[in-house]
Amino acid sequence: MTGFDLLTRAADLDAADPLGPHRALFLGTNDDAVLSYLDGNSLGRPLTATMDGLASFVRDQWGGRLIRGWDEGWLGQAERIGDQLGRVALGAAAGQCVVADSTSVLLYKLARAAVAARPGRTEIVIDRDNFPTDRFIVEGIARERGLTLRWIDVAYDGGATPADVAAAVGPDTALVLLSHVAYRSGFIADVPAITGIAHDAGALVLWDLSHSVGSVPADLDAWDVDFAAGCSYKYLNGGPGAPAWAYVAERHLPTLDQPILGWLGSADPFAMGAAYQPADGIRRLVSGTPPIVGMLPMQDMITLIEEVGMPAVRAKSEDLTAFAVDAVDAVLAPYGVVLASPRAAQDRGGHITVDHPAFAGMVPELWQDGVIPDYRNPNGIRLGLSPLSTSFREVALAVGAIAARLEQAAHGAGADRLHPAARGAG
Ligand SMILES: *Cc1c(COP(=O)(O)O)cnc(C)c1O
Repeated sequence: MTGFDLLTRAADLDAADPLGPHRALFLGTNDDAVLSYLDGNSLGRPLTATMDGLASFVRDQWGGRLIRGWDEGWLGQAERIGDQLGRVALGAAAGQCVVADSTSVLLYKLARAAVAARPGRTEIVIDRDNFPTDRFIVEGIARERGLTLRWIDVAYDGGATPADVAAAVGPDTALVLLSHVAYRSGFIADVPAITGIAHDAGALVLWDLSHSVGSVPADLDAWDVDFAAGCSYKYLNGGPGAPAWAYVAERHLPTLDQPILGWLGSADPFAMGAAYQPADGIRRLVSGTPPIVGMLPMQDMITLIEEVGMPAVRAKSEDLTAFAVDAVDAVLAPYGVVLASPRAAQDRGGHITVDHPAFAGMVPELWQDGVIPDYRNPNGIRLGLSPLSTSFREVALAVGAIAARLEQAAHGAGADRLHPAARGAG
């Protein structure tokens, strides 16, 4: 039907992919029931090493060391992983990152700390397309602190630009909260430029890296970022509900005033003291007991990313999304499918979104076909391409299956009229 032979192109790209062999390190990549898993940006696959690591932790560490484990390393684990993540994926020198809580809770703590550091300023700037939790958290803080939200409107296939932010900030701005990579469009924000604009207005920045960490390199120290937070269960493959991570620039640590004062963020937890004294360093962001078991899987992925290197991860990611965009243009655009992500690879992260009115009901059908993307309102199918575990073949099979379902929706066609790529996938 087109000059674009999806599966052949994909086979050539997979054969030439230097990271291709890493796919076998992940559980389930040979599972015939799932032909194409394109949701690694929402829940990354587990590494096989993680399954073994969890079992051995339970047996040898928890079961063997019992409460002695806290003194033998568990207490410092959140900061150790934070330092490793900072070095491998965030461009953050040691002592500024920690694993804790969930992204939502860390966003709350950091946004409250930022607002506290800018007394007298009354506004928080955020974009309307930001992830719901980010918007809801600052809505709550605005209510709590009597502040005003200043909203930035963004294009359906874009995100907040330096010009948008320049127009929104001023002498009343306390904080700008934006996502590095937009969860829907995949747009990459110009973090250093926007951070500079916010700083020139006297405001602080909080960047959400949930959709970039582990797929798009970050350079938080060099970008002069104040605060950042992000997810560990997406491209860091930390597993469902894995604890999140936060970054606080060293210059803010001595005065960081976060709102959830718990014993493990205090200077001397085991003194069981009468009044709260914050710990020195990043531990003052911590509230309670670190989630040791929950931190195990992400360590395996961060270590794998360290071996491969973020530049190679990013190069594969750009190739995957470029192939996906070419496939959408060639095979899905004739059905009226619209790309809702940036066209230039350097402007987008590890996923793309495609829009079509028929997509609202289609995702459950695709899941039946063994093709697993996800759906994002109002009518987008999101194709999340996790650089170390997604093959080009998976992209081809997904695009073929979407074409087949669109064909069926348009003409009520039977399986004999399905797109060849989807038939082959059957
Ligand atoms: C996934 C995601 C979150 C998730 O927050 P949780 O507290 O883990 O539920 C937050 N912000 C963004 C931008 C995300 O992509």
